[in-house]
Amino acid sequence: MKFDFHCHSNFSDGKLSPYELIDYAIEREIELLALTDHDSVDGLCLAHEYIRNNNLGIKLVDGIEISALTEFGEIHVVGLGIDRKNTQLINRLKLQQEQRWIRAEEYAEKLAKIGVKGIFEHLQQSAIKVVTRSHIANAIIELNYAKDMDQAFKRFIGKQGKVKVAKNWMSLGEAIFLIKQAGGLAVLAHPTRYPLSNRKLSYLIESFASQGGHAIELSYPSLNKDKMEWLKLHAEKNQLLASSGSDFHYPDLRWTDLGRFPMLDSSIAHVFDKIKLAI
Ligand code: AMP
Ligand code: MN
Ligand code: MN
Ligand code: MN
Repeated sequence: MKFDFHCHSNFSDGKLSPYELIDYAIEREIELLALTDHDSVDGLCLAHEYIRNNNLGIKLVDGIEISALTEFGEIHVVGLGIDRKNTQLINRLKLQQEQRWIRAEEYAEKLAKIGVKGIFEHLQQSAIKVVTRSHIANAIIELNYAKDMDQAFKRFIGKQGKVKVAKNWMSLGEAIFLIKQAGGLAVLAHPTRYPLSNRKLSYLIESFASQGGHAIELSYPSLNKDKMEWLKLHAEKNQLLASSGSDFHYPDLRWTDLGRFPMLDSSIAHVFDKIKLAI
């Protein structure tokens, strides 16, 4: 059964609407899809409606990707199989969404000081639901301060960029707690994309497991075989399940397409088995 447990719609920084995303998934013969927007569950309702109204064969897993802070810096926690109507989760996400707008304004102020002007006004005029750095990068490009996403992140808002803004996300413990109390599985997203040494990454995985996390992404685009083996050992050591997902954002983004990631062998238990039972 073809599946993908990590992707975005235009309810965060993806470009497809939930409808278009479902159509795109069906085109790619995906039968089980988790929509995991940044800090938002709002696209799920529309995706379910679309599937129901059109009698489509695809199954949707309710998901989320929460930004969280740890002693090792910012990380992303995917929640799979959550109750999208859970009030505690929704209320906390609302605060984090507000925090995202405060942060966007801070980015805009700091960018203006180095000559990149008009970013916040541009964001306000765009139809944005949950504002992310992807939207800020987009504004930088549209206002002609960078030629593409790569340059916008490298020059301005990426890890090595000129502009730094303090993050004010919930803690890792809170993100795991919220996902669990909403009935979901907490998954450490794309572990090799954080700027951490192997030693720190192994501490992060340990800390994630000890705070009640269930699983870790072991298969996603850009993860090489050696690193995957390394992660698998650490997953086993910490009794974490495996998860897989493309982190798809939009069709023309070269490095990731919906449903495309290496297959994992069956030597490690996968969240797929639990999720399939639950739907
Ligand atoms: P935020 O959660 O607001 O910090 O935004 C993070 C999002 O920005 C990620 O989910 C990616 O979609 C995007 N992103 C981060 N770094 C890069 C990069 N170097 N190039 C393109 N997109 C990026
Ligand atoms: Mn994103
Ligand atoms: Mn992420
Ligand atoms: Mn993602």
